[in-house]
Amino acid sequence: MTDATATATTVTNPYAAGAAYIDGEYVPLAEARIPITDWGFIRSDVTYDVVHVWKGRFFRLEDHLERFERSAAGMRFTLPHSRAGQREILMECVRLSGLRDAYVEMICTRGTPPPGSRDPRQARNRYFAFAAPFIWVADEAQRMRGLHLVISAVQRIPPESVDPTLKNFHWGDLIRGLFDAYDRGGETVALVDGDGNLTEGPGFNIFVVKSGKVATPHRGVLEGITRRTVIELCAECGLPLDLRPVSPGEARSADEVFLSTTAGGLLPVTTIDGKPVGDGNLGPVTDRLRDLYWSKQEAGWHGTDVDYTDHA
Ligand code: PLP
Repeated sequence: MTDATATATTVTNPYAAGAAYIDGEYVPLAEARIPITDWGFIRSDVTYDVVHVWKGRFFRLEDHLERFERSAAGMRFTLPHSRAGQREILMECVRLSGLRDAYVEMICTRGTPPPGSRDPRQARNRYFAFAAPFIWVADEAQRMRGLHLVISAVQRIPPESVDPTLKNFHWGDLIRGLFDAYDRGGETVALVDGDGNLTEGPGFNIFVVKSGKVATPHRGVLEGITRRTVIELCAECGLPLDLRPVSPGEARSADEVFLSTTAGGLLPVTTIDGKPVGDGNLGPVTDRLRDLYWSKQEAGWHGTDVDYTDHA
C-alpha cells in the first residue's frame, strides 16, 4: 500500500468536531438542527446549562445537572429525561467525540405548540445536548496578561423580569454591552443593575479583591458553579469573602479583579475602562486561586471520569 492509499483509508471519527443528541439520536454536532418554530428559537423560551470536561473528567457534573433541573422547573419545563438518563446522554456525547477537554451543553426548549396555538402549556418540551471542543471565554494571550474589561452603563435585565439564577438565553443586554465594550476599546463587559452596582458579564461572574478580602455581587446574577468553586477555594485558603453589592468604583480601585466561568475557570482582569487595576499586573490572590482551581481539578476534585470505551 502506498502512503497516499494509507492516508485515504485512515478512518476518521465523524464526531471528532463534536457530538450532539437530538430527538433520540446522536449526530455530528454540525448536523444538529432544530425546527425554526421551536419557541426556544423564536421566543428565547429555553433553559440550558454548560459543564466542562477537563483531561477526561467532568467537573462538578452533579452540580450542573442539579442547577439545570432547578432552572427547568423554575421556567415550567418538563424534562423528558431523568437525572440518570441525562448523565448517560452527556457521557455518550463526550465518548463519541473522543474529546478529553470539552464544552458540554444541555438544553431544554419549550418546543412548538400545535398549529394556531400560542399557549406554551400545549407544547411538548424538547431536550438537546452536545459536546464540543473546550471553549475559552478569553484566549491564551488574554489569560496570560489579563482581560481589558469595560463597565457598561447597559443595565442587566432586572431579576424581577427574568430570574438570572435560572440559566437563560436572554442575552440582549449582554450582547449590547459587548458591542459597547468593543466600541470603547475593551475585550469584554460587565453590566450594572438598576442601583448602578455590578452584576455579571456574558458568561461569567465577577470578583474584586481589596486588602486580601474578596467580594462578589450577591444578587441579580447567575449563581455560577465556578463562583461556588471560588467561594469554596477562598474558604480553604482562609481568604475572607463577602456576597454583597459591589460598586463599579470598588472594582476600579480594587487590588485585583477576576472573572469566573465554566468556559475558562478564573480569568484575570488587568484594566477597567482603559485604566490599570492595581499595578496593572496579574495579582497574587487571582494567581493562587487559579492555580488551585486547575490543580485540584486535575487531581480529581469534584470529578466524574468519562468512560471512552466503545460499548457497541
Ligand atoms: N453568568 C452568566 C450570565 C453566565 O451565562 C455564566 C455561564 O455561562 C456565568 C455567569 C458563569 O457560570 P458558571 O460558573 O456556572 O459557568
